[in-house]
Amino acid sequence: MKVVKFGGSSLASGAQLEKVFHIVTSDPARKAVVVSAPGKRYAEDTKVTDLLIACAEQYLAAGSAPELAEAVVERYALIANELQLEQSIIEKIRDDLFTLLEGDKSNPKQYLDAVKASGEDNNAKLIAAYFRHKGVKAEYVNPKDAGLFVTNEPGNAQVLPESYQNLYRLRERDGLIIFPGFFGFSKDGDVITFSRSGSDITGSILANGLQADLYENFTDVDAVYSVNPSFVENPKEISELTYREMRELSYAGFSVFHDEALIPAFRAGIPVQIKNTNNPSAQGTRVVSKRDNTNEPVVGIASDTGFCSIYISKYLMNREIGFGRRALQILEEHGLTYEHVPSGIDDMTIILREGQMDAATERSVIKRIKEDLQADEVIVEHHLALIMVVGEAMRHNVGTTARAAKALSEAKVNIEMINQGSSEVSMMFGVKEAEERKAVQALYQEFFAGVLVSSCT
Ligand code: ASP
Repeated sequence: MKVVKFGGSSLASGAQLEKVFHIVTSDPARKAVVVSAPGKRYAEDTKVTDLLIACAEQYLAAGSAPELAEAVVERYALIANELQLEQSIIEKIRDDLFTLLEGDKSNPKQYLDAVKASGEDNNAKLIAAYFRHKGVKAEYVNPKDAGLFVTNEPGNAQVLPESYQNLYRLRERDGLIIFPGFFGFSKDGDVITFSRSGSDITGSILANGLQADLYENFTDVDAVYSVNPSFVENPKEISELTYREMRELSYAGFSVFHDEALIPAFRAGIPVQIKNTNNPSAQGTRVVSKRDNTNEPVVGIASDTGFCSIYISKYLMNREIGFGRRALQILEEHGLTYEHVPSGIDDMTIILREGQMDAATERSVIKRIKEDLQADEVIVEHHLALIMVVGEAMRHNVGTTARAAKALSEAKVNIEMINQGSSEVSMMFGVKEAEERKAVQALYQEFFAGVLVSSCT
């Protein structure tokens, strides 16, 4: 039995839904279908989720947003008309949306989540109706009725373990299950969403709960590429990856698959297959616990911008019990999360996403580190990019770091930081954001010998 998830671009129009119908019904093992909200139809289009966020914000600020609300309804209406579905479906979507928008706003974060989640919820209802219209037995399943419970963290929910047993009961149902992605319910009965692109997470949870044999994730590319295709022309497609490799790559900028979506499938030992709705016969990328072909040390190179580093230096830091803990506690007290902490005998560098730290917080953190920890020097550097060179086989391949460092030095990229060894499957380089592209291209050239995309694109 397979759980299949379709992303927003696969569900953006009637024509796309026809492809989805064909894919689902061409394999009887495809039993549960997880859907996103309608996404972009073309590059400049707006996703329904973004329209809903703008709409909820305007309601909160001004009490109404008629144009935005109608724009949302219009997206579903266009799809329904294209597929010749009954008008009553759209009337119901309109009524439910306006009831929701005009409802309780006493908790704005939770109100926003409920409005955001309606994008997938209404889409699942519409898609179930479309499948039935085509003569296939299909049923919309509400996550609350199915027992998908999550933590009460609006916009950042995590699944509660009991959900898996609850979801297992869905196996008894006849016909196709059409399940909205992106949200669950708190124990108090409120709608709570996962982080953005979280329908991938729902699919993985459902695959685990239903104990599926495979989790198929349909998107709009043929495979996961070994590097960002806007940096390198025709990058190599990856046919097989381990969960650990995929997690490292998606964390550092590979947006094909949500980086938190692997764990539920991984825990249940369910492989994930990434495929293209627009080209379903392409092989795609398979994510597994173990792969046989690990001859090449590097499987992919990912990069992401928007990091900063806090460099702390203090003579005899290595002898001071609790120094690291106290430094990190200062971050904790400022509500900051960190990503990496490379350290030496007299210094440590804390790398964090800079978007979470405004100028006042930065000043306060520096002051506290200087005063409380009596640090000799504290320097914050902004606009860093992190580059992750990822591959299980790096562990038993000699000289991978040397090759990477040489490639960067030949490209005249200054390495601000290296973190190698704490993760067995990746090596991290910190460079200035302005050097990101050049650095990634140099590394790709070294490990994959590819054709580069000229830097003016
Ligand atoms: N529609 C939601 C988003 O745009 C979730 C998803 O598509 O996975 O973030």
